[in-house]
Amino acid sequence: MHEVSLVAELVDIVVERSGGAPVALVRVRHATTIPSDVLDQAWAMLTEEGPLADAVLEAEPFEIRVACTACGFAGPVGHDDVVAPSIASCPACGGIVTFPPTAEIELLEVRTRSG
Ligand SMILES: [Zn+2]
Repeated sequence: MHEVSLVAELVDIVVERSGGAPVALVRVRHATTIPSDVLDQAWAMLTEEGPLADAVLEAEPFEIRVACTACGFAGPVGHDDVVAPSIASCPACGGIVTFPPTAEIELLEVRTRSG
């Protein structure tokens, strides 16, 4: 699953940044193309053991918005609309719309236990 590999990458970055120290909190932004429950599940699965076992994931969602020239739709795309990085099908007419390449998960902060 696409989301799991994104979260696996995130976990790698967090471990690298914390230098293997126990992590208390990780703050991220995530596109709403990744449903929060999927994000939570992947996080729980991938951090079951190791320095992130007790880390709390704080995720704030943001929308990836598109403008469709075919039907005039302007608004956010959802998980099922995205077909490739920066390409989605229009939620209104199903036509192809593009959006600027956007990191679906962005790491904001890593807080280790020692401070
Ligand atoms: Zn459209």
